[in-house]
Amino acid sequence: MQLMEKFLFKIAKKWIAGDTIDDALLSAKTAYQTGRHAIVNKLGEYHTSKKQIQNTIEDYQKIANSFRKWKIRGAISVKPTQIGLSISQRQCYKNLEEIIRRTRNAHVFIWLDMESSEHTDETIELYSSFFSKYERLGIALQANLKRTEDDLNHLIGIGAKIRLVKGAYKEKSTISFRSREDVDKNYIRLMNTLFKKGNEFAIASHDEKMIKKAKSLSKKFPRKFEFQLLKGIREDLKFELVKEKFVVSDYIPYGTNWLAYSIRRIKERKRNILLLGSSLVQLQRV
Ligand SMILES: Cc1cc2nc3c(=O)[nH]c(=O)nc-3n(C[C@H](O)[C@H](O)[C@H](O)COP(=O)(O)OP(=O)(O)OC[C@H]3O[C@@H](n4cnc5c(N)ncnc54)[C@H](O)[C@@H]3O)c2cc1C
Repeated sequence: MQLMEKFLFKIAKKWIAGDTIDDALLSAKTAYQTGRHAIVNKLGEYHTSKKQIQNTIEDYQKIANSFRKWKIRGAISVKPTQIGLSISQRQCYKNLEEIIRRTRNAHVFIWLDMESSEHTDETIELYSSFFSKYERLGIALQANLKRTEDDLNHLIGIGAKIRLVKGAYKEKSTISFRSREDVDKNYIRLMNTLFKKGNEFAIASHDEKMIKKAKSLSKKFPRKFEFQLLKGIREDLKFELVKEKFVVSDYIPYGTNWLAYSIRRIKERKRNILLLGSSLVQLQRV
């Protein structure tokens, strides 16, 4: 490993389970032992090699079929571009169908992660065509996109299971809310709609303001929903939520393809950039 990569990996280990399926299952088991469910994601995106895509499908099959043996309450979360969307929508459709076929007997819930806005339409189309045939399927929607209010209403209309996130991709100002304040406002607006009209959804955020608002909405509109948080972030909050008897899922990424994911996490918070800086200094000392 290059020096820079080595040092980034040291930081990334906070957010990822490790390289292998067993690392992911172990991490999921630990989450389960602290009263949480697990959502396992194999790292990697924009795959165009058939071999890479096939390996990803096989990994998800192994994971989904191991949950029962490992006594884990788990789901999997798939990025459309890791199963062929970068080749064609048809390939992605075929591969999602294969994952569903290979995991069907394990009754595992499958989430579709939402990637950058160039894939939003295709991902929603993919979701809509499968959800009518396979109900244990959810989709992420991003509050930073102006279009999401319409998407949310349309998807609630077909009974979709939605994970609401703020959005991890930088988008053009013509299609997105850029300030933190506007994204938060939209998140709250969308969350209100979910509690009023949705069911079986996920509030995926580490933001205490959003979590507090969700808790108060849940008193007014009792719905089946869960909180979802990323591995390694706000463990204190997860512990509190479990104590308060909310359903909490830990999103657990694993795999060797950790760089893009880790950079997204680092950029999300000033303190992470400081962490990066101090680790660099330490590394130079060694
Ligand atoms: C389960 C789950 C699934 C997701 N799936 C998707 C997806 O499919 N598509 C997509 O675009 N995005 C996804 N995201 C990422 C999401 O869009 C945000 O980028 C990310 O969650 C940060 O936003 P936030 O809601 O936590 O709020 P922010 O406003 O970013 O942060 C609020 C507070 O949370 C804490 N926090 C947030 N991030 C970090 C961090 N990296 N390290 C330490 N503390 C932090 C800090 O205390 C911060 O002040 C997902 C997030 C989660 C939790």
